[in-house]
Amino acid sequence: MTDYLQTQERILELRHQINHHNRLYYVLDAPKISDEEYDALLRELQKLENEFPSLVTPDSPAQRVGAEPLKTFGIVKHRKPLLSLANAFCKEELREWHKRITKLLPGEKISFVCEHKMDGLAVALTYENGVLTTGATRGNGDEGENITNNLRTIRSLPLTALGNFPQRFEVRGEVFLPKTNFDKLNRERERDGLPIFANPRNAAAGSVRQLDSKVTARRPLDIFIYALGWAENDQLPDSHWEMLEQVKSWSLKLNPNNRLVDTLDAVEQYYDEWVEKRDNLPYEADGIVVKLNDLSQQERLGAASREPRWAIAFKFPAHQATTQLKDIGISVGRTGTLNPYAILEPVFVGGVVIKQASLHNEDDIRRKDIRIGDTVVLQRAGDVIPQVISPVLEKRKANSLVFSIEDKLRGSDGASHCPVCNERIVRTEGEAMYYCPNAACPAQLAEKLEHFVSKQGMDIRGLGERLAVVFMAEGLVKDVADLYDLKPEQLALREGMGEKSGYNIVVAIERSRTRPLSNIIFALGIRHVGGETAAILAREFGSLKLLSEA
Ligand SMILES: [Zn+2]
Repeated sequence: MTDYLQTQERILELRHQINHHNRLYYVLDAPKISDEEYDALLRELQKLENEFPSLVTPDSPAQRVGAEPLKTFGIVKHRKPLLSLANAFCKEELREWHKRITKLLPGEKISFVCEHKMDGLAVALTYENGVLTTGATRGNGDEGENITNNLRTIRSLPLTALGNFPQRFEVRGEVFLPKTNFDKLNRERERDGLPIFANPRNAAAGSVRQLDSKVTARRPLDIFIYALGWAENDQLPDSHWEMLEQVKSWSLKLNPNNRLVDTLDAVEQYYDEWVEKRDNLPYEADGIVVKLNDLSQQERLGAASREPRWAIAFKFPAHQATTQLKDIGISVGRTGTLNPYAILEPVFVGGVVIKQASLHNEDDIRRKDIRIGDTVVLQRAGDVIPQVISPVLEKRKANSLVFSIEDKLRGSDGASHCPVCNERIVRTEGEAMYYCPNAACPAQLAEKLEHFVSKQGMDIRGLGERLAVVFMAEGLVKDVADLYDLKPEQLALREGMGEKSGYNIVVAIERSRTRPLSNIIFALGIRHVGGETAAILAREFGSLKLLSEA
């Protein structure tokens, strides 16, 4: 029994420490211990909670790693509806909105809170006695999906509130994927042959709506709280700004770029400033939100057709440019997919020089009727990935042709061939993609090898993705299996590689045989099987043998 009590005490102590360091790291951005020290605390807590399941509580930071998968999400009825915002697309519309509200509040002094309109997913979070008990999507505004387990995995979201919080309250916030994480996630998905997310909002929404919260836990999501939904407390401040400050004092995270202003001019200034600087933000914002600061004024103005009269979203202009589509290139993916991409006359879009853009697949190119030689409209969707939106038809050359992958790759024999290995290409009935069916296609082998040795795959240190491809080009290896036959002497013969580094690489290759099953499955690079699916397959089947029999 003393064992139990001691464990309980240690668990409480660990939770307290971890929550404290979480807050320093994720909310205040001022960590005091190293990642290793933090991991050690978390691992100790997880171990104790595994040994003593009766001591597990929903607010334990060890529970952030994700709960067991759900069959489906439950429904949460919002106590107060989550309204949507009216939009303004130009200053004229913003000024009209301002005119309307000043008319409704004659002679009253008004001030505004300006916030960034995050490109993410709106959620409502309920805390009871300081513990996060329910997290829900906006849904239709009245009812949302219960995604509590997934939201618990967001490190900057406190599982327990601090300070002088009301007994029960609900805050509203925007879950988002920071830009760097979005780029990284898409690169991984591209490498795994999975469809990439068009913008950070899709990525955030896809991540929080995972039935398996362990998947969500691996996505580095963040959250900014932008409002108090309701609270069981009559001691609340009477302005939105002070309300936000109070929410912050309960340890919830606000966007540091919020601003309280007194005039319409200052609102426009805030807008202009961020139109200018938005590319440097660590997250995607697609506009600003302007809210009346005084809560009693908000109350009196109310809502019309489910949009509050006291707030408006003022959208940033899209990052667009026109340029010439010089050619459409075809690259060969790891699983043999033939991927068309736009080769462009270099152009600035949203502060970045764009030379190439994604074109998805042939169906998409034809649907948009994009032809080589066209002047095209380019847009950075979600301000990240450049996409060809449409051709400028007035500028089309008279002799332009409808694009076809088969025509593009047609040889003198009349058939269409892989641009790398010259194999006849195929298209599976009902699929948008063409494939090079040649398993020995050098482009595919290089991509496969690169994928195999990658960190998420076999993680063969010292070999590295680039070197693996060099080995292939030099004829040292023809496929993945050949790696395991490499001899230190062979490597030592290579220019610039000593006996020792050759030996180290062979040892690293040998050691990779003990990688966890999920990594091995991932490394094999089966079409449609990414890191997340690989982990699930490994859990379900337990061994490669069982999996191959399934
Ligand atoms: Zn090929």
